Amino acid sequence: MLSAAKELFKQLFKKPATNPFPTKRVPKNVSELLEKVKRGEAKINRPIETPPRFRGRLIYHEDKCIRCKQCVRICPANALEFDAEHNRIKHYVSRCTFCGLCVDICPVKALEQSDEFLLADYNKDAGFLEAKKEKKKTQ
Ligand code: SF4
Ligand code: SF4
Repeated sequence: MLSAAKELFKQLFKKPATNPFPTKRVPKNVSELLEKVKRGEAKINRPIETPPRFRGRLIYHEDKCIRCKQCVRICPANALEFDAEHNRIKHYVSRCTFCGLCVDICPVKALEQSDEFLLADYNKDAGFLEAKKEKKKTQ
């Protein structure tokens, strides 16, 4: 009981451990806020730093891909498909569990996992992270 009271007292003087992301107070409309951020009319708090080797949204290096389809076969969530029409791999983020098996099995390192974790999207077929948003990974 005494140790619990001590802990409670200590917490009174500690800063909150949670990250006030994207803003200190919950915005009325998140999409509207993000649009304002794009236009430079509003600012958001930076998200927390991700740890090294964080398993975020996948990046596909189409130029490296040899179309062996090993990633499609190993994916336990059925989140990868070979798009024959466009001769490339298609990714369904909404099904992905970010296990990283596809990255590990790819013989030519055409897949990698970014540190992007903001995955909410109105499009359930949203796929790979666009190369322009690609972030450098820290090893
Ligand atoms: S495993 Fe790699 S090379 Fe093979 S199809 Fe998938 S992304 Fe392309
Ligand atoms: S990370 Fe795992 S679940 Fe996601 S596409 Fe790759 S193998 Fe499938």
